[in-house]
Amino acid sequence: MDRHFRDQLRRLEEVQKYLGMPDRVYERLIHPQRSLTVSIPVEMDDGSIKTFTGYRVQYNTARGPAKGGIRYHPEVTLDEVTTFAALMTWKCAVVNIPFGGAKGGVRCDASKMSRRELERLTRRYTYELGFVIGPERDIPAPDMYTDEQIMAWIMDTYSMMKGYNVPGVVTGKPGFVGSSRARKMATARGLVAVLEETARVMSTPFEELKVAIIGFGKVGAGLAEELYPKGIRVVGCADSKGAIYNPCGLNIPELKKHKKETGSVKGFPDGTDLTAEELMAKEVDVLVPASISGQINSAVAEKLSARVIVEGANNPTTGDADQVLREKGVFLVPDILASAGGVVVSYFEWVQDLQRYFWQDKEVTERLRSIMKKAFRDVYTVHREKDVDMRTAAMIVGVGRVAEAVSSRGLFP
Ligand code: GLU
Repeated sequence: MDRHFRDQLRRLEEVQKYLGMPDRVYERLIHPQRSLTVSIPVEMDDGSIKTFTGYRVQYNTARGPAKGGIRYHPEVTLDEVTTFAALMTWKCAVVNIPFGGAKGGVRCDASKMSRRELERLTRRYTYELGFVIGPERDIPAPDMYTDEQIMAWIMDTYSMMKGYNVPGVVTGKPGFVGSSRARKMATARGLVAVLEETARVMSTPFEELKVAIIGFGKVGAGLAEELYPKGIRVVGCADSKGAIYNPCGLNIPELKKHKKETGSVKGFPDGTDLTAEELMAKEVDVLVPASISGQINSAVAEKLSARVIVEGANNPTTGDADQVLREKGVFLVPDILASAGGVVVSYFEWVQDLQRYFWQDKEVTERLRSIMKKAFRDVYTVHREKDVDMRTAAMIVGVGRVAEAVSSRGLFP
């Protein structure tokens, strides 16, 4: 068992005592419901055949069909996918949408594959998963290194297998094949709603926040782009190659252009170059980790000076670091709450697909904001009432809802 899943189990054990959860329910929550490993033979562009390994884990479906992204990454393992599937289960419950949790992954380096190879890989992977996914069973979505096009291929392959169009089998699709408005910006917009609530409870004017973002992909750059027109100062941004810092606030549209031209945020003329670690040690109000998991380890946590951490990525903080941050009194808004905007709009996309009736951008964003704010308040109330940190509070809310569903449904057979 890897470190991530061990951390998950430790957190689960901690909330069991707060919830007074009976052992017979707890026992059902510490094991994934279904794990599938598949071989994916792919014809490469040079005519050779390469076999990749793919996974799909449905962690728990007591509250509804399994839901969660698919990542393409060279280091994907079954343990990692299981950890993220568990996180998705709690995440969907924290925002109270009627889904269980799942995650999928293929061990591959998408950056070294052509689009044609990725298409063949995706289609064969979808075929292999064909018996366990479906709009009523398990609905994948994008995650690290997967995008709208990959979702369209999943939708097409599954529909071909069925013989009719099934847009609701996957979310995060591109336009015209049953996508939702505002899905691409959903995680970022959810983070903005969470930042507003955080500022409110900390009695700090939202407009005065100084924010640093680690990760400049869909979530990180998306958040910077949402904050910039609101006049919020994004003083630092990091990507896998380096970081850039300007205490007066970075010009985000210019920074995006620079990243597009050079492949990194580093070297941006209107700022100082740093390493991501140096940026994380800078004095800012809010730090948003929005890239890989385990990025905030205990050494990084020791050096942090941010008052608030809002987790835009899944599982960015290790268990040890959590302990350090708790001792330092950092207010940490956990992934299963803060980064839930994506799956909330995925839920809207699924509902729209099932009804074949599509909403406007404004409706999607308003409903997203209202769900995120309600979830924040639910968690914050537990945080205050039980005098626990926000991660434990979010776990109490999320795991508590799943436990209730498990226990009222009973055990089959
Ligand atoms: N991959 C995203 C997450 O981790 C979205 C999942 C989904 O929309 O199903 O929350």
